[in-house]
Amino acid sequence: MVKETIRVYARVKPLGRRQQAGSYSVDDEEDLLSSLEITVPRDLADGFVNNKRETYKFKFQKIFDQEAKQDVVFDSIAKPVAECVLAGYNGTIFAYGQTGSGKTFTITGGAERYSDRGIIPRTLSYIFDQLQKDSSKVYTTHVSYLEIYNECGYDLLDPRHEASRLEDLPKVTIMEDSDQNIHLKNLSLQQATNEEEALNLLFLGDTNRMIAETPMNQASSRSHCIFTVHISSKEPGSATIRRSKLHLVDLAGSERVAKTGVGGHLLTEAKYINLSLHYLEQVIIALAEKNRSHIPYRNSMMTSVLRDSLGGNCMTAMIATLSIDKRNIDESISTCRFAQRVALIKNEAVLNEEIDPRLMIVQLKKEIQDLKDELELVTGKQRTSELSQEELLQLDELIETFLKDNDPDSTLDVGADMRKIKYCFIHMKQLMNHPTTSDKKLLSRNISEEEDTNKESGEELEKLKDLLQQRDNEINILVNMLKKEKKKAQDALFQLNASSACSTVLEQSLSINLEDRQSPSSCFSLKGAKDFSSSVHRLPFLSRQTGGKMSLGCQEAFEVFKRDHADSITIEDNKQLLKQRFAEVKCLGEKLNKVRSKINCLKGEITQRHIQRAALAVSSPSEELNMFDPVEEKLRMQIEEEKKSYKTMFNRFKGLKVEIEHLQLLMEKVKMKMQKDFEVWWSEEAKSLQEKPEMVTSANTVTVYPQFIKSLQHLSTNSFSEITRVSPNEDPAGKNNSITFSNPTLKARTPQSSSTSIPLTGDSQADADILAFMKARQRILQRKGLENK
Ligand code: ADP
Ligand code: MG
Repeated sequence: MVKETIRVYARVKPLGRRQQAGSYSVDDEEDLLSSLEITVPRDLADGFVNNKRETYKFKFQKIFDQEAKQDVVFDSIAKPVAECVLAGYNGTIFAYGQTGSGKTFTITGGAERYSDRGIIPRTLSYIFDQLQKDSSKVYTTHVSYLEIYNECGYDLLDPRHEASRLEDLPKVTIMEDSDQNIHLKNLSLQQATNEEEALNLLFLGDTNRMIAETPMNQASSRSHCIFTVHISSKEPGSATIRRSKLHLVDLAGSERVAKTGVGGHLLTEAKYINLSLHYLEQVIIALAEKNRSHIPYRNSMMTSVLRDSLGGNCMTAMIATLSIDKRNIDESISTCRFAQRVALIKNEAVLNEEIDPRLMIVQLKKEIQDLKDELELVTGKQRTSELSQEELLQLDELIETFLKDNDPDSTLDVGADMRKIKYCFIHMKQLMNHPTTSDKKLLSRNISEEEDTNKESGEELEKLKDLLQQRDNEINILVNMLKKEKKKAQDALFQLNASSACSTVLEQSLSINLEDRQSPSSCFSLKGAKDFSSSVHRLPFLSRQTGGKMSLGCQEAFEVFKRDHADSITIEDNKQLLKQRFAEVKCLGEKLNKVRSKINCLKGEITQRHIQRAALAVSSPSEELNMFDPVEEKLRMQIEEEKKSYKTMFNRFKGLKVEIEHLQLLMEKVKMKMQKDFEVWWSEEAKSLQEKPEMVTSANTVTVYPQFIKSLQHLSTNSFSEITRVSPNEDPAGKNNSITFSNPTLKARTPQSSSTSIPLTGDSQADADILAFMKARQRILQRKGLENK
């Protein structure tokens, strides 16, 4: 059992461009703990912060200041917890702080760069790396991803659902058994056998979360997300299983509302926006109090789920995320205060071991058999059947090893079988009577031969020996040939594996539409490659895309929107990076191919040599041929060298593969975010068109068709309160065939684009979309104009 207080860390988010830094300092030296000092300026202190104090000091296990990178945060906080989890203890890491302070960035990571990977992907990578290294146990890994919003749990990993609202996801409920253990009903545990599968699940969950969020529910800041890795391990042959869980928790924003009206209220009196965080604080206060027997875990779903992590069987770490600009100083102080309370909580982690009943049965059965054998021996009941040829050979080997062993304490253990014991005695007797045959010939093989040799003359014996030698030689040649064929088959298999690994990566290049599509010089073929994108297909984004109800006009507007979107730079950057990585992978693939052919060549030379020597042994037998071959040894050393360099390159290759996969998932996510932003923006545009119908209809050349309104309605997530309908018949001339926009304020700045005329298509749906597109375009230009100004 490990008794430990919860480790509490702080991370300060880098300041934004327009943010003003609050006054704070970090002191790392103090008695191993770090301390953070926050000074509240007078003007703020007079307002809503307690005006009696100006400086606040808080202690943390370690403080990560603005420039701290994700890898350092992972190494210090998550790695030790992950190690405990691998050893069979439960672990939890949770991030607490106001919205925008960097919780998601710390737990999941940034959406732009590979280096911004957060604790979850890094932990997955670390765990699977460790599992691969440890061959002494059999491991099974599952993941689950739970979102708790408004006291309701939702399963983010259900692959059957394509959520467009949170309510579409399967609902998860809490059940408590008679031992007061919490069980989550309906939360799916998905098996992940490697890092790639686990990452895909993480991205699936994140995507579901993003899609399900609407501006109304603000799920990301008001909900708690718990990503859990479940590991079970077992030593082969043992009936004991270790099970551990690692919760990685992104809590809801901890911002509070101060009591209104009176100034100078203490911060602690301010109320959380999120009620479950209020209950979390109550649990923490109760745990920190001595002699308190009742801890109110049951008040909220989140505290029930995290019950073991707080004051229970778990190694827990908390990260207080702080946004230290002037406006957020009061919230940062609240976060630090909360952290100080958490630091007092003691947890008792125990090794989660249990006995698997099925394995226990197998073990007990074996024990019963052993005991039966022993009983038979003691009671004198014996088996009468003959020993099989195989058993006899095994016994010969045992006897031989026993006789050769110089250790005086060595024993000959043949079990409690009287037949075997008798056979051993006979064998020993024969060896004593015919010591010359002891070296080469074993009893079982030679019982019949021996009888013959007793009868035959010495001459015949010589003949037989010659024949035997000849046969041995022939067998040697055949065995060598067989080995060669086997090696060929193995090499072919190996080549197939390597090529499918490489082509998996190359395949991905196709899915992101890079120009560099082919690898002509590489023998890594694309044929038969495992399709990586199949895993990405699990993301709901693609099905949304292929749902493809976007009309032509809408698509054009989307193109313009994409160009202007801030994330397009990220996509471009990542594309460039991916291109680089692909070039590297390609180059590495070629090198790997070369090394592999070299190894095959060397192996071929060795086989050749074997055959030559075997042939020589047949034609002119000599002692020399049975001795060590220096040429072969040299070839073997060369192979070892090549293998080493192959391994290094292959590891790099694998690393690149993981990076490429991650970048692609990031890009998918950014693209989807862009689409979502577009839909929101588009519906807003439509709404404003509705609210100001005169802008559309004032130019006497414009007609708004009912379908337009309908098409906008289907795009919009909000319903329209007032809908202006203008029927096609109201077109005064009835032969309107162009839309013209003119905006006097824009004319001076962008004379060419301020007034554009586009022919109508005649398809009312498309026309309506074109109309909206033009409007959108105009707004963008307007915005750009303002920015330039
Ligand atoms: P929260 O989840 O607490 O609401 P986020 O993690 O979403 O906050 O962070 C808000 C914004 O700040 C995001 O755009 C994120 O990329 C950025 N950010 C947060 N922490 C850091 C950091 N340590 N370094 C760089 N950017 C950060
Ligand atoms: Mg967040």
